[in-house]
Amino acid sequence: MRILVTAGPTREYIDDVRFLTNSSSGLMGYALVEAALSAGFDVTLVSGPVNLAPPSGCQFVAVETTEQMAQACLDAWGECCGVIGAAAVCDYRPKVRQSGKLKKTGQPLVLELDETTDILASLGAKKGNRFLIGFALESQDSYTNAARKLKSKNCDAIILNSPLAINSRDNSVELILPDGTINEKWVGAKRIVADRIIDWISKNLISKNLTSET
Ligand code: C5P
Repeated sequence: MRILVTAGPTREYIDDVRFLTNSSSGLMGYALVEAALSAGFDVTLVSGPVNLAPPSGCQFVAVETTEQMAQACLDAWGECCGVIGAAAVCDYRPKVRQSGKLKKTGQPLVLELDETTDILASLGAKKGNRFLIGFALESQDSYTNAARKLKSKNCDAIILNSPLAINSRDNSVELILPDGTINEKWVGAKRIVADRIIDWISKNLISKNLTSET
């Protein structure tokens, strides 16, 4: 059984040199890949740019932009039994990508931004009997925001964490179910938390006979 994992940030280019991005080390996503591999799953990792080597044994797809990540995930989705969305996806991209390098003019530069594709939501719209796990990094109204994201993306559960997770080796997470209950709380090194998440998925989602489409 193959699990799809998204990890790292995406980049949205203003010109050929400058881009918008999110702060993300990719550590949580890569730890999830290692945990899933050691639990015996096949894994496709679709990752934005990070300073980490892809865990050996996974199928690795390197991407930069949100649209590239969305396409790579859709391509992989058919042979996966579920997805864990750990990527810090850029929600906006400049309406126009200028070619070359924009020159300074001494005046403020106004950027017009379009919303990017919501990758998890588009996989959730073609879910079938596969599982979807999202991550929500929230700084305020955490439970309300996480529950809203879980519903809008058609997730089976969402992992809530805080900005303290960014670039940290450790994490403190809560697993929230569609009825809003906090099912689990795990604290520790990201790899330990990843093991708990994979174990929870195996027991609560995979054992319910979720399968890939192919
Ligand atoms: O950015 P946001 O807090 O909405 O992210 C919640 C979840 O949705 C995360 O799992 C993230 O990887 C995923 N996401 C996505 N595509 C986006 C935005 C977020 O897959 N455009």
